[in-house]
Amino acid sequence: MAERKTIVGGNWKMNTNRAEASDLAGAVSEGFTNGDQADVFVCPPFPYLIPVAERLSANNGNLVQLGAQNFYHEPNGAFTGEVSLAMLQDLGVSTVLTGHSERRHVIGETDVLINEKTLAALEAGLQVVLCIGETLEQREAGKTNFVNAAQLSYGLAGVTAEQMADVVIAYEPVWAIGTGKTATPEDAQKAHQFIREVLTHGMFNETVGQSVRIQYGGSMKPANAKELLSQPDIDGGLIGGAALKADDFLAIVNAG
Ligand code: PGA
Repeated sequence: MAERKTIVGGNWKMNTNRAEASDLAGAVSEGFTNGDQADVFVCPPFPYLIPVAERLSANNGNLVQLGAQNFYHEPNGAFTGEVSLAMLQDLGVSTVLTGHSERRHVIGETDVLINEKTLAALEAGLQVVLCIGETLEQREAGKTNFVNAAQLSYGLAGVTAEQMADVVIAYEPVWAIGTGKTATPEDAQKAHQFIREVLTHGMFNETVGQSVRIQYGGSMKPANAKELLSQPDIDGGLIGGAALKADDFLAIVNAG
């Protein structure tokens, strides 16, 4: 089996204020000193990207990478309220999220938009974390695999096998996000294995399937991280609530 480097991201969502964001970035970057162990990124709210970037570069020369929770895919122009990829890159952002369930289900982003955003970010040279996952209703209707395969094929339409080197998939069952309910390691592993199978035999090839990293997201915390991360097809985590405490986030990184 291919060696895949663990990747752990902190998605701070719409939380923290300026001082908290800066302190959290400081504590995470001071605590993460072994870059061989994992790739680590944090996605603060937009207004705090600059102070967070400053704290990350002050410690360990950006070992903790800067990510963005969102962006708009057009290069510039009359898009009130939106933030472009070039603006984010200007601040040192190297990773962006697409397809997060809150953007799909709360904000109403469509598969078409998610695909446009994914393609634009790859074109701009960023690492893209494409988030997919089924709702509780879909799981109970036996549609878990169907939904994950569909979100993969819509989200990655037009992405080349070469570009897949910059893609990370985050499997985040919607019913497990922010609810305290975690998928069992066995259920998560099953979904990850299926995702890898789709990428290998349905969409790309063996090389892509074996090398792409698939994060688990949904109430991952220090108490369950080790068991989840020890599953053969789980290569890291996308962490929400537990990423707001540096100790918890670092404990998850160290569990990988
Ligand atoms: P959670 O969020 O860890 O709070 O469940 C994960 C995510 O939405 O990325």
